[in-house]
Parts: sequence; C-alpha cells; structure tokens
Amino acid sequence: MNEDETRHRLVELGASLFARGFSVGSAGNISVRLADGYLITPTNSSLGWLDAARLSRLDGEFRHIGGDQPSKEVFMHRAFYRARADAGAVVHLHSTMATAVACLADVDAANPIPPLTPYFVMRVGRSMPVVTYYRPGDPAMEPAIHDAARGARAVLLANHGPVVSGKTLTDAVYAAEELEEAAKLYLLLRGTTARKLTPGQVDDLLTTFG
Ligand SMILES: [Zn+2]
Repeated sequence: MNEDETRHRLVELGASLFARGFSVGSAGNISVRLADGYLITPTNSSLGWLDAARLSRLDGEFRHIGGDQPSKEVFMHRAFYRARADAGAVVHLHSTMATAVACLADVDAANPIPPLTPYFVMRVGRSMPVVTYYRPGDPAMEPAIHDAARGARAVLLANHGPVVSGKTLTDAVYAAEELEEAAKLYLLLRGTTARKLTPGQVDDLLTTFG
C-alpha cells in the first residue's frame, strides 16, 4: 500500500471500530509505520470521523511534519515501534472489556487473560503484561511500555486500556478486536472452571501460526 492508500485504510478501520463501539468520543488512537516515518490520528480526533488528509504525519524520529497535531498519546506508539521491529501499526483503545480487565486487582500482571481460545493466542501471542498505572501523559509511562512491549505484541495499561501492535494496520486492528473478545470471554467465565488451553496447545498454535 502506498501512503495515500494507507491513509484511507486507517480512516476506514477507525470508522469501523467506532461504529461497533470499540471507541467512544475522542478515545483511542491508531498509528502506522511508513517507509520514512509514521501516520497517527490527531489529538482530540474521533476514530469515527477521521479525515485522511489531516492525519498527523511524523518523520522517522516522531517529529510532527504535517497534518493536524498528533495524539497526546503518541509516546505509547513510539514505545512500541522502538521496542518491536515487527510492529507495523499500533492501536490504543479504551474498549470496555479489555479496560475492565485492566482494572482487576487480582489478576496475574504478567498475563491477565488466560489462553481460552486459539484466536487470542494467534493474534495477541503468549503474553500480554499489565503496565502499572500512570497518569495520562506522564512521560514515565513510555519506558514502562517499552520494556513490556519487548516481550509482548500487546500490553494492558492498568485502569486505562490496551495498546496492541500488529505487522500491518489490519493485523493490529484485528488483534485489538480479538483482545476485546477474549477479555469479554474471560469476564464471563471468571469464577467458573473454564477449560484453558494447555501450554502444549499454546506452543502448537504459536509454532503453526506465530
Ligand atoms: Zn488512552
């Protein structure tokens, strides 16, 4: 995809996430890596009504070089791109179910959602750590996300929401959707004796599809 096609794809995916309630108001932001920089949704924009021509254009060092001012949460995206060479796009949402899990005090912070379905494992991977709470905009959040992202394609920001990477824009959005569904299943099944995938089944999935 060239930059123009990428811009339109980002707008399309944002509208789709918004229409289905994965983001409300101006919550959430999406970025994508280009050959010579990045595109990210502008500050205070709604994923439902993005304008392809006004997306924030950043250079390879994340400096703003075109379009509207970038999201204030740009540093979360930067943390992922710098931690993961395989990250071609990053999606941050305040989606309800994943954020609910991010508010639970009694989960395993290294892996708050157990492997319940193969699709979650295939899209998100073996682990999705919880990054401890930081006030929105706190610069200390960036190194914490960077450290967590080195070992995981997605993280949950405590009491805030998920940040999910993917090889492509579509992959990252699909992974964020799969994460939301996995969080919903986990919340539905909490307190029951749900059958989890075994470590061997998880290994098999990651070997086959990882
Ligand atoms: Zn946020």
